[in-house]
Amino acid sequence: MHYDTMLIDTHTHLFMEPLRDDLDGVLARAAAAGVRGCVVPAYDLESWAAIRSLADRENVHVAGGLHPWVAQQPWDELQLGSQLQDTAAVAVGEIGLDFKVPDYDPVRQIDTFRRQLAVAVDLDLPVILHNRGAFEEMADILDEFKGAVRGVLHAYSRGPELAERFLGLGLHLAFGGTITRPGARRARRSAAMIPEDRLLLETDSPAIGLHDILPENTEPRHVRNVAAAMADLRGTNLEHIAKVTSDNARRLFKLP
Ligand SMILES: [Zn+2]
Repeated sequence: MHYDTMLIDTHTHLFMEPLRDDLDGVLARAAAAGVRGCVVPAYDLESWAAIRSLADRENVHVAGGLHPWVAQQPWDELQLGSQLQDTAAVAVGEIGLDFKVPDYDPVRQIDTFRRQLAVAVDLDLPVILHNRGAFEEMADILDEFKGAVRGVLHAYSRGPELAERFLGLGLHLAFGGTITRPGARRARRSAAMIPEDRLLLETDSPAIGLHDILPENTEPRHVRNVAAAMADLRGTNLEHIAKVTSDNARRLFKLP
């Protein structure tokens, strides 16, 4: 089966196992499923190196940043800036705050986050945001950058009230496999109601699975399943969801 619908997976870690072991296959299956773009965020110094070989692949767009899990890795603005420029990165990310990891250092996380937001503003790039357990803290910091930072809060799974706060900051929200789970009521309510022009789709493969697909078996092609779930929740069809989310992704990340 070959589909002509255009879909964009705005968050997939193609440099991770098992995806990297069968990259040609993964990308061919994605293309056959109508996926015309994959945004691949690198999140630590090791993956910054790994995405250099991905940057030339057709339909692959890379991003780079320091994840809050590795906020203690030594880095500086010059180094991040040249990584982003060398790989023609489409975003700074993924970056953010995670106050649910054990032994986190909030001061370090906030410092690394804030400095990367400044890099994004300098280079006029959008940001890809990760957040667990620190939504208020993140929203307050983003408030300082309001109007200057654009981007996406990825793997959004919280309710509509919190969504409003981030929409108010001008952000997009990306939904993934979570909305295919019948029990994910909060995420599904949000997916049903946020404005069409702020919606993005992602798989976060291979980190998050779908209702009927294990994380390690998830690939960019499954963004099609996410689009189908989104269409159901919003009472529309997959073609419409594919069009609006792809338009949004292309506009936000300035994709060809
Ligand atoms: Zn990720």
